[in-house]
Amino acid sequence: QAIRHGVDWARAQALAARERAAFVARNPASQALAGQAAEHLLFGVPMHWMKDWSTPFALTVAEASGARFSDADGHDYIDFCLGDTGAMFGHAPAPVAQAIACQATRGYTAMLPSPDAAPVAAELARRFGLPFWQFALSASDANRFVLRWLRAATGRDKILVFNGCYHGTVDDVFVDLVDGLPVQRDSLLGQVYALTEHTVVVEFNDLAALEAALAGGDVACVLAEPVMTNIGMVLPQPGYWAAAQQILRRHGTLLVIDETHTISSGPGGYAREHGMAPDALVLGKPIAGGVPCAVYGFSEEVARRVERAKRAAPAGHSGVGTTLSANMFAMAAMRANLEQVMTEQAYAHMFALAAQLADGLRAAIARHGLPWCVTRVGARTEFQFGATAPRNGSEAGAMLDGELEQIIHLYLLNRGLLITPFHNMLLVCPQTGAEDVARLLAVLDACLGELA
Ligand code: PMP
Repeated sequence: QAIRHGVDWARAQALAARERAAFVARNPASQALAGQAAEHLLFGVPMHWMKDWSTPFALTVAEASGARFSDADGHDYIDFCLGDTGAMFGHAPAPVAQAIACQATRGYTAMLPSPDAAPVAAELARRFGLPFWQFALSASDANRFVLRWLRAATGRDKILVFNGCYHGTVDDVFVDLVDGLPVQRDSLLGQVYALTEHTVVVEFNDLAALEAALAGGDVACVLAEPVMTNIGMVLPQPGYWAAAQQILRRHGTLLVIDETHTISSGPGGYAREHGMAPDALVLGKPIAGGVPCAVYGFSEEVARRVERAKRAAPAGHSGVGTTLSANMFAMAAMRANLEQVMTEQAYAHMFALAAQLADGLRAAIARHGLPWCVTRVGARTEFQFGATAPRNGSEAGAMLDGELEQIIHLYLLNRGLLITPFHNMLLVCPQTGAEDVARLLAVLDACLGELA
């Protein structure tokens, strides 16, 4: 069509061709490395989805520090992707670098606790208000383990998720609402179980649907981000979570809050910041400063139920935990990160910059007359191709436009600015500066000027 999401589509395509050619010309070293990688890496990249960025071939990152990284061709970038939250507190934060350097000659993994275990758990309890904790290597794993514990603890088979959610590679959550009916996502490879038997899906912000879905008393838990962040961004309507939590309590369904992305809200996450009282909480990605690690915590009551379920089970593998979980290396990194990096002060800096960024984005969008909106959750800002903020996953999904977003991302990348792929998320870290935000806004303004 001639105009798409307010953009002149013919112009956009011409721009895309120009930017792709510019990327190829600008990155001969990355291109050569991509050629070598193709010889023995399946799909030519270490992870198949590294091919799905906006670039004709993968950009090779040489090194990263704070809010910046450099590529194989020696170009410098300001990073607003920050490893899609894995590096939310900056690349290689100094206290974490020091802790892992110190641990480097003191052992990595022993299948036994290190002295960091108790202080880390105490700090998690203080910060998140839940008393008992366990560890995993990724947020995907942590979510899987929590679902397992809570099904066991409640004796209920089903879980409930919100349409359009993402909680990592947890098979159970890949169920979508299509024309109001639950359907297993067809992109999920090699999945042979009927997921809709044990996963219930409703729209976010729909209290009546939640009430109806829980009425049967067979749903163990709701697994949710407090703000949806993986399909664009969807904020809870005022009062939604207070009312939803009452509904859950009435039906004996537990609430698991996945703070992996919404830890952008503050040192205790969105739930703490907004007075929610989850029964369980999951957090991965940046918790150990980018070293692989994830945590999950339970309320006192749920912890007791989980312990009872474990005691009642026959001896043998629980299906929870992997060999390297809670390894000494990750625990040292996490302790340093929690104690010295994820501080109130760091957050205050990030919030001020993210506010500058969100305001600037809104102004640029208005200046170019585009029907787009901007949503911010603390350090995390998203722009979406719709005039008003979406209220649920279906509305947010309808605003996604992979082609348009890639044109914008590539334009930015060719000018030394990286933002998160697969939607339009910009994250700031403690080392991001006001001048970095101003640079992003100026380049984006020029891009919109070419598109609108
Ligand atoms: N939970 C949420 C909310 C996420 O966004 C993600 C990843 N984007 C995960 C869990 C899974 O994290 P990982 O890929 O590190 O396992």
